[in-house]
Amino acid sequence: MSMLPSRAEMQRAYLQSDAAYDGVFVLAVQSTGVFCRPSCGARKPQPKNVDFFATAREAVFAGYRPCKRCQPMGAAGEAPQWVRQLLSHIDRSPDQRISDTSIRSLGIDPARARRYFKRNYGMTFQAYCRGRRLGSALAQIRKGEKLDHVTLGHGYESHSGFRDAFARTFGTPPGKARTTDCILVTWIESPLGPLIAGATDKHLVLLEFTERRMLEAQFVTLQRVFKRPIVPGDNNVLREAREELSAYFNGTLRKFTVPLECPGTEFQKRVWDGLLKIPYGKTISYEELADRIKAPHAQRAVGHANGANRIAIVIPCHRVVNKGGKLGGYGGGLWRKQRLLELEQVEK
Ligand SMILES: [Zn+2]
Repeated sequence: MSMLPSRAEMQRAYLQSDAAYDGVFVLAVQSTGVFCRPSCGARKPQPKNVDFFATAREAVFAGYRPCKRCQPMGAAGEAPQWVRQLLSHIDRSPDQRISDTSIRSLGIDPARARRYFKRNYGMTFQAYCRGRRLGSALAQIRKGEKLDHVTLGHGYESHSGFRDAFARTFGTPPGKARTTDCILVTWIESPLGPLIAGATDKHLVLLEFTERRMLEAQFVTLQRVFKRPIVPGDNNVLREAREELSAYFNGTLRKFTVPLECPGTEFQKRVWDGLLKIPYGKTISYEELADRIKAPHAQRAVGHANGANRIAIVIPCHRVVNKGGKLGGYGGGLWRKQRLLELEQVEK
């Protein structure tokens, strides 16, 4: 059976409806016989009445039935159906303003959408849509589209309104934006919970399991490291990362080829290069990694650099364990490290 996060962690997650744990576990309520995703909006049961399972399947075999509201039989880690519907509505025309009326016409309560975005994506629904619109405007400007055309095409009534919003987000007026590069961020669903992914035009720069409590801090750090604006969006690099991750989690991909960029100190880069050379399905100790990168006895510094890795899974920091086989640490939680190693079927 798969390892679960600690009971305290799971209790916190479901009591706060933390969607980062959807797909990680389900909670089953003894008194009602129903099981739910952690993010379910239904009334929260008392922790003493709750059983936890790693998968919906295990809950079903234990005699529970799926909740009608959160539909926990859906693919692991998948956003609820109504959220996917709303996201694809925005994706079809990221340059349009989305009014409460049009949200209602999809059968979705605008207040619920606002709460969901704030809670799961670390930004308001309006900020998400504005980011998508401006990101799409930036892409057109960089392709050489006329400014007038871009302004009118993106739901802004006036040039000045567009210029202000654009400059606030990208730190540069639209007229000078041909050379502005931003980081597009998106969420990638996985059986271990959603990952936040960020990419420039050419490189994947971020892949981390999201802790919704940490999201805003993550954005601030990223902006500081990359000195570029961060907006929600999608591009070829992110699509490639999404496809490769899906194949990885299906067990059909052992080596990632999506191009990476990871700014850091010389030492950090040596450590991260060392990580990239650990083959799929193998683990090494911090000591061994220190030796391999010609920094013997620097295992503590190696451990720190390992923890500072911003591109989880692809740069496989989960393959470094303590001497003697104990798992050691992992930024995304030890249970995730264990499940990644299980997936790769590491022999102990
Ligand atoms: Zn439910």
